[in-house]
Amino acid sequence: MSDQWDFPSGDLMRGKRGLVMGVANQNSIAWGISRQLAAQGAELAFTYQGETLERRVRPLVTSLGFDFMIPLDVTQDDEMERAFGEIKAKWGGLDFLVHSIAFAGKDELQGSMVANTSRAGFARAMDISVYSFIDAANRASELMPSKEEGGGSIICLTYLGAERTVPSYNVMGVAKAGLEAATRYAARDLGKDGIRVNAISAGAMRTLSLAGIRGGKSLMGTGKDWSFLKENTSMEGVAGCALYLLSPLGRSIAGEIIHVDAGFHAIGVPDMEPES
Ligand code: NAD
Repeated sequence: MSDQWDFPSGDLMRGKRGLVMGVANQNSIAWGISRQLAAQGAELAFTYQGETLERRVRPLVTSLGFDFMIPLDVTQDDEMERAFGEIKAKWGGLDFLVHSIAFAGKDELQGSMVANTSRAGFARAMDISVYSFIDAANRASELMPSKEEGGGSIICLTYLGAERTVPSYNVMGVAKAGLEAATRYAARDLGKDGIRVNAISAGAMRTLSLAGIRGGKSLMGTGKDWSFLKENTSMEGVAGCALYLLSPLGRSIAGEIIHVDAGFHAIGVPDMEPES
């Protein structure tokens, strides 16, 4: 799938170093974003979630000519400390951060939100999908250049399920609402230091995360049938938006949630064939 992507090359990110959190395989949104940023000259470091994923992630990272990889379970404070410590030790600083991480248990991602959300499941979804962004933004900001030196940029990935109900999305929608609020508060706190914080609200895309949602594949179908563009969200579109937000093109944009979903978010009632 990833071989079909077409990312414009150039120098928009030349001289910039960034950390990408959330590549699991070649379909990960974080991977598409990484390829676009690398095509524009960025130097990248990657965190990955433990040994099992390393086997899939390392060949991808190597294929871009990079080798800076750090194992990281974002629920572990000591691992977060070590990861950002390694960035500081090796690079001395950081220009941008891509947070592309979320998790909720399979049992939570189906049926009734009120019936299926346990206290532990809620805490886990919020910890991994929201707190990790707040924590990472804080740690990354400490490594970013001053406002006078150009500041930095931070993005995360969110979904329409934060704003409206989506079947089975449930507690993850609640978490994404938290993530979007966290984006605005982080943008407020870090803006005075020249650090821009924004989120991309991507339409449904065929990744491991989507597979964890009961009926997740049908979300792709509605995207194709109902969106204004009558197509699924493209990796090129999402990665292009990431490039825009992380590069100087995104100057003056902070605290924004940009929908990259072929217009799906703006539908009130979908176009349907009139009943005969
Ligand atoms: P993905 O499964 O490829 O990526 C999710 C990543 O989260 C994986 O790399 C996984 O290792 C990581 N992760 C989960 N728990 C972790 C933990 N405890 N510590 C460290 N890493 C952990 O799926 P994706 O679709 O590329 O998801 C990336 C982001 O995009 C997520 O925030 C997701 O909610 C968001 N998003 C996805 C879609 C979609 O339809 N696929 C749409 C909008 C937004």
